[in-house]
Amino acid sequence: MKRLVARAYKFRIFPPKIVVKKLERALGACRSLYNSELEYEEQLWFSERRFVGRNELNLLVPDWKSINPDLRLVHSQVLQNVSDRLVKSFDGFFRRVKSGERAGFPRFKSGERYDSFTFPQSGFKLEKGRLRLSKMGMMGIKQHRRIEGKIKTLTVKKGSTNKWFACFSIEREIEIKQKDFSQCIGIDVGLESFYADSEGNKICNPRWFRKSEERLKLLQKQYSRKKKGSKNSRKSKLKIAKLHEKVVSQRNDFLHKETRKLADSCSLIAIEKLSIKSMVKNRYLAKSINDAGWRRFLQYLAYKAEEAGGRIVEVDARGTSQRCICGNRVEKSLAVRTHKCKECGRVLDRDVMSAILVKASALKELKNTAGTAGINACGDAPLGTSMKQEWTGNAQNLIHARCPIGLPWGGSLDG
Ligand SMILES: [Zn+2]
Repeated sequence: MKRLVARAYKFRIFPPKIVVKKLERALGACRSLYNSELEYEEQLWFSERRFVGRNELNLLVPDWKSINPDLRLVHSQVLQNVSDRLVKSFDGFFRRVKSGERAGFPRFKSGERYDSFTFPQSGFKLEKGRLRLSKMGMMGIKQHRRIEGKIKTLTVKKGSTNKWFACFSIEREIEIKQKDFSQCIGIDVGLESFYADSEGNKICNPRWFRKSEERLKLLQKQYSRKKKGSKNSRKSKLKIAKLHEKVVSQRNDFLHKETRKLADSCSLIAIEKLSIKSMVKNRYLAKSINDAGWRRFLQYLAYKAEEAGGRIVEVDARGTSQRCICGNRVEKSLAVRTHKCKECGRVLDRDVMSAILVKASALKELKNTAGTAGINACGDAPLGTSMKQEWTGNAQNLIHARCPIGLPWGGSLDG
């Protein structure tokens, strides 16, 4: 079975000074266009109670060009993409209003908040390991991975530490392999460890962020004492951004390695369904979750498993910390780290026992839904489709296997 998936590649680019100037001017021009268009929409709304779409906005671009000549330095499709962005932010606004969420009206963008522009189709070219941007020039690009698939768009982005990046979104066809799901693993998110699996392994929680937090606090204190807008204040801010950047890249590196291991070695990965939103609300847990980047972990895992032909099953894991695989109830507070069952005599790490239960309920659910036709029958729902897609905890692209936890599993699953 073949399927089209979207992926993204981010490469650092090295524009020469003269090109950097052009990129900066283009960014400024796009930002001013965005703000002009927003102002136009706002006025239209207050005077006539209506909004206009991208086509009408694009018709007005020549007028804005005569006001801001810098716009002439930017590829026309890039300017059209600015209108698309505005229309998208209005769409989001209306959607939130409709669903009763808190909805902020689209905002005017300051310099820092507008840090990228997009070539939606053309205007860029990769030639001999260099990148050519229309109306900008040539620049070096560090392509640490080969691009596989058809390039759809290119977004040029300025990072917080003044590095520049080229982000390609691509589409490629992948072969969905049919695995037999014999290599099943259950995973439990830990607080002490990053996660525990049903094989008894505990993967340590990376706490770079917390370690760096002290240093970050110090830097932020220093920054707050500096005079706003001064040279020293800018320097201090850059230091903070650099530290952040380091932590993020270390964390992502860790996550890529862990998810690769799992995706390559297991055909069926059972995870507990986490409502991340509600967990982040809980202040005690919030730090650990953000710290560990669990959200990103699931994102990476979803697309890596998909390409390896594996599958992720989410299960309702309520109560996994209070039960034993034998069916006995073993109550324990958060402070108790070891699971001791009086009924069957199992003594295990509590997170490992939870992972075993997660695995058991995933297998049980799949058995129930697939019957004797094999597990594949229940799982034609695709896994993660795009890296851009944010994990929402109930993403439709995962299979939902809701099932009660802790029912005896015939003793065939041994801890
Ligand atoms: Zn037991």
